[in-house]
Amino acid sequence: MLTGRRYRLDLTPGQAEFAERIGGACRSVWNTALEQRRVHHRRGAWIGYHEQARQLVEAKGEFGWLAEVPGRCLQQTLIDLDQACAKHGTWKVRWKSRVRNAPSFRFPEGGKITVERLNRRWARAKLPKLGWVRLRITRPLGGKIKNATVCRDGRHWYISFLVEDGLAPPERHANPGSRVGIDRGVVKVVTRSDGIFHHRVFARDREAAHAKKLQRDFARTARGSARRKKAAGRVADLAGRIGRRRQDFAAKTACVLATGFELVVFEALATKNMTAGVEPRPDPERPGAFLPNGAASKSGLNRSILDNGWHRIEVATIGKARYTGTHVIKVNPAYTSQRCNVCTAVDGKSRESQAVFRCTSCGHTEHADVNAAKNILTAGRAEHAQPRPGVRVGARKPRNRVGRKANRQATAAQVTAQTEPEPAGIPRL
Ligand SMILES: [Zn+2]
Repeated sequence: MLTGRRYRLDLTPGQAEFAERIGGACRSVWNTALEQRRVHHRRGAWIGYHEQARQLVEAKGEFGWLAEVPGRCLQQTLIDLDQACAKHGTWKVRWKSRVRNAPSFRFPEGGKITVERLNRRWARAKLPKLGWVRLRITRPLGGKIKNATVCRDGRHWYISFLVEDGLAPPERHANPGSRVGIDRGVVKVVTRSDGIFHHRVFARDREAAHAKKLQRDFARTARGSARRKKAAGRVADLAGRIGRRRQDFAAKTACVLATGFELVVFEALATKNMTAGVEPRPDPERPGAFLPNGAASKSGLNRSILDNGWHRIEVATIGKARYTGTHVIKVNPAYTSQRCNVCTAVDGKSRESQAVFRCTSCGHTEHADVNAAKNILTAGRAEHAQPRPGVRVGARKPRNRVGRKANRQATAAQVTAQTEPEPAGIPRL
């Protein structure tokens, strides 16, 4: 299976500066090529990867800053752009900004990258034009390198290898028939239908206060100043530290869920909608005034959604599930917190408080999140038992332009072969 391995790089100041330049060249190739595609689009014409790659070769002869960076990285940028445009459309693909997007570039030829271990902690990799770079080898590569991406995250540079580890997914989960429903919440990050909680505090109170102070310091600096750059670095450092904790929690929780259960059911979260702002509603009795609309609580919830990384847990579980044979499904979350999992009665009043669920029909009492997780599991079992109509498992139509075109040509060739009459009088061999 293809999998990722990410290590921190220890670049020399010269290499870091060169890496920054490679990232900059890739960004400007992306932006120029995207603009070119849009100009063609406006004129009703079309330009593709091959023509752009040809023009890139020409441009390299003209500009020294393009010629000095690894050519395959620039080419890969054009390929990435081509795929992004094919997938999302030329108008939805975004520009790469020097401020918003951290520099990142990929070496597509994994076979040409050699990694050597130096000692227990350090290894080195040879990259085109960058030369030997030192990396902190925190775990073995464990497979054949397919490609390598170098990117900067905050102050540090990282290298991610795409690796073929040679492992195959198992036929069946080691714990057949085991299932669990997952309710993600604010008070406890993960509640399981078997009554177990997984929780961690990602930002301690002091850190939250410190983050506010750093934000304030940043807001007071002048645009473009050296002090602003430093202040931004401090904010990013703290955010990075908290983010890594979140990632760690997601990975560990995912591991427990995937190794323990054959079926894991999540509720489908519309995180984007939930984090969006609330429209103010005018108060009918006081003209010009607005009703209290829960905007403050929403912003609080907003913050904790982003804080608890609910989506990361799901993504990590899906990734881990490939190795354990676990099925991960998502169900509609409607009424899962209001329905009693014993008598299935739905009543908003059954939820006495944040933590307590007491059914108004049958009197069943349980922790509210556990009750919700059980409902999620029930919904997931029903969905898992019957495959959705109209979805054929394993069948896939060719999606890209090339596939469709090839199909058309193949069909056309078949038709001509069938309709072409045999030339008379000439015997076939
Ligand atoms: Zn009940």
